[in-house]
Formats: sequence, structure tokens, C-alpha cells
Amino acid sequence: MREHPPCVVLTGAGISTESGIPDFRSRTGIWARYDPLEYATIDAFLRDPAKVWDFYGKRLAVLGGARPNDGHRALVELEDGGVVRAVVTQNIDRLHELAGTRALVEVHGSIRTSSCLDCGTVVPLAEVVALLPVPHCPACGRVLKPDVVMFGELLPAARIARAEQLAREAGVLLVVGSSLEVHPVAGLPLETLANGGRLAIVNRGATPFDGRAGVRIDAGAGATLTALAGRFQ
Ligand code: NAD
Ligand code: ZN
Repeated sequence: MREHPPCVVLTGAGISTESGIPDFRSRTGIWARYDPLEYATIDAFLRDPAKVWDFYGKRLAVLGGARPNDGHRALVELEDGGVVRAVVTQNIDRLHELAGTRALVEVHGSIRTSSCLDCGTVVPLAEVVALLPVPHCPACGRVLKPDVVMFGELLPAARIARAEQLAREAGVLLVVGSSLEVHPVAGLPLETLANGGRLAIVNRGATPFDGRAGVRIDAGAGATLTALAGRFQ
């Protein structure tokens, strides 16, 4: 990371498990209990929004009370020290923002707001929570949609374009806590490698990119990133 700046960080659910938020694909992950086809697709939402809100209501209860952990904080230190240029995250939990990350690209959106698909009204999280179990638009009455990217939806074009640009310009792409299974985000390491950058992966468990990573650390995100930030002090 010293020899090949800048470092761009790509995070997934694994950086937030130490904050008490379950990841998706582990044995204890969310998809072990909820079928994503029934709860996480835009079709499911359009078909039965109340059922999808039953799922999101429970998630908001967990996410709303979660605090950033050592991993999120170490990335802020590395950004303050000029080592990390930006953090691209698949997480919708806002924990990077709460920790203080400034250059943040949330490619899957966040729970910060929900929106009305009919009239465009945007409702902040606290108001949405007050409207549970099924939050309706205060202006027109349609069921609100959380501003997160569901399966079957396109990623916000400007954000994924920014993420791709950062990946291309990265000397090192540091992946933390992602299985790198979900596209198009899983394509970002290819952008880095194709442009002569290097790949480092901190993740418990295998990823499809392990063979192409210059550094591969199978360990907890919090302790590993804390040790890493310590090396730059
Ligand atoms: P993932 O669950 O696929 O992978 C997380 C990885 O982190 C796993 O390999 C796990 O072993 C590892 N891990 C767990 N705890 C760790 C720790 N403390 N330290 C290091 N590694 C740890 O999650 P992902 O890669 O983020 O999944 C892709 C994204 O897909 C998700 O982030 C999510 O945004 C998105 N998604 C969203 C929806 C939705 O409901 N809208 C649906 C499906 C997927
Ligand atoms: Zn409306």
C-alpha cells in the first residue's frame, strides 16, 4: 500500500458482523433464514410490499441500533492519514458514515431514507421507523420502498461508475469482508487488475479472486484493519 498508492477499499457485510449485523451467505447469514427470492427482490416488493417490510422492519431494528466497530474506525484512520482514498461499500447499514469515513460510495444504497415509487417523496429513517410495520407515503399513501438496491434492480448508475473509476485508479484494491459473489460489485477487482493495480483480500472464507490476490488474509476484519492502521502511524 505504501509503494502502490492510492488504496481504495471495497467492503461487504463481513466488516459489519463485529457490530452484531449478520452477513448474507455464511451459515448463520440472513439467507440461511430468509429466501432472497421472497424478501430481497424488486418483484417480491411489488407483489407483496407488506411481506418485504416485515423482513426490513426486523432488519431496521438490528441496523438502527448498531454502532461502528474497530474495522470501520481503522479505515477512518487510514483515510485521515492519506493512505485510503475512498471506501466503496455494498453495505446499507451507514456504519462507515457513522464512523466518520468521508469519501464513501454506497453502491447498494442505504437505509438512511425510503422513497415513494409514485410521487417521489423521500422519508428519513426515523420517520420510517415510526410508520412501521408497513410504512406508507405521507403524501399519497403508497407503500414506501427502502432506498436500497434489491435483486433485479439496477445499481445507481453514477455510483457504480464512480466505484469503477476508483477501482481502475487504485494502486491497491483492499477488499474487506465480502464474498465477491454479487455482481456488478464483484467485477471491481477485475477493473483494478486490468489497469495494473494490485488486489489484497481480508475475508473469512474463500472468494473467487483469492488466486489473483497479492495478499490474502483469512482473519477478522476488526483486528486485521486495526493492525494495518497501526503500521501507518
Ligand atoms: P456476503 O455475506 O456474501 O459475504 C460476507 C463475507 O464476509 C463472507 O465471506 C464471510 O465469511 C466474511 N466475514 C464475516 N464476518 C467477518 C469478519 N468479522 N471478518 C472478516 N470476514 C468476515 O456479503 P457481501 O459480499 O457484502 O454480499 C454482497 C452484497 O449483496 C451485500 O452486501 C448486500 O448489500 C447485497 N445484497 C443485498 C440484498 C438486499 O436485501 N437488498 C440482497 C442480497 C444481496
Ligand atoms: Zn407518494
